[in-house]
Amino acid sequence: MPLYYYLVARPARYSVDELLDAAAALLAGDGPAAVSMSAVARAVGAPSGSVYHRFPTRAALCGELWMRTEERFQSGFADALASPGDTTERCVAAARFAVQWCREHPVKAQVLLAGADALDRAAWPEPSVPHVPPPGSNLKRVEFCALSGDFPNQFCTQHVEGWFIPGVSPIKTCDVHREVLVDVASGLRVPLDDGTRQLRREVYEFWPGEFLTLFEQAGIPRRVPPPFLPNNGSELASRSGQKPVIVSPSKKEIVLASTKRIPLRAKAEGDVREIFWFAGKQFVGKAAPNQVVEWTATAGDYEITALDDHGRADSHSVTVR
Ligand SMILES: [Zn+2]
Repeated sequence: MPLYYYLVARPARYSVDELLDAAAALLAGDGPAAVSMSAVARAVGAPSGSVYHRFPTRAALCGELWMRTEERFQSGFADALASPGDTTERCVAAARFAVQWCREHPVKAQVLLAGADALDRAAWPEPSVPHVPPPGSNLKRVEFCALSGDFPNQFCTQHVEGWFIPGVSPIKTCDVHREVLVDVASGLRVPLDDGTRQLRREVYEFWPGEFLTLFEQAGIPRRVPPPFLPNNGSELASRSGQKPVIVSPSKKEIVLASTKRIPLRAKAEGDVREIFWFAGKQFVGKAAPNQVVEWTATAGDYEITALDDHGRADSHSVTVR
């Protein structure tokens, strides 16, 4: 046997898991770009060669890091989804698992948060072979939505592969990812295309309220849909929290159009990031709470509306002369 065989195949001093743990810690500390072959080697106190011995390229290392993290998360997530109870209870169990897992594994959670693309997914070597089930077992390899753990619909952007047990695994298509119509001018949602506005289609995440609370507690913001345009007959009732209060102009104020620009300003709840302003059905502009939007108005009677990004609104009438 040639000498190099012994050199290459000598027992590993640094396990794959140790190297991946070091890579995860680097990512959690300084972001995905901090994961380099030399940094991982330094972190475990190994020569770079021992990292290259396990992973031929940085992309291979990143790919393994992602696969390992995702498999560990998904197995617990899938168990929680398959727990006893009705659909809502099982979803809540899964959401609780997600939050708890992230709390217990803050470093690994950073890997999932960074996402596969930040880990250079395009350059990963051809599929890292998933763990193979025992021969003869009734398992199928299928794609799931990475976010909901259900079968993907056409709007799910991130897919993961997983094992499916026919007749046992829950059969449900993702209903978290949904496409909505958005008014181009304001960025707000409309229920249907009535031909009066320029619209575009966007995909957002639809979570039950208790999920959003859990995600917020875990510091994981979600891409939730914008509120509906006002006066579209689709206002959602019973929104919690305080609606904004229009500060300027004040109610029934008569303002002179000769001033050209009328300042619009509202106070809002602490969780509000944007306020959308309307004069009648006309979108005027948007701004952060307490910031002023300038409205160039012509003479007339207007219903001024301030809509916050949670869908809460305040309106009152103003006369411009
Ligand atoms: Zn989905």
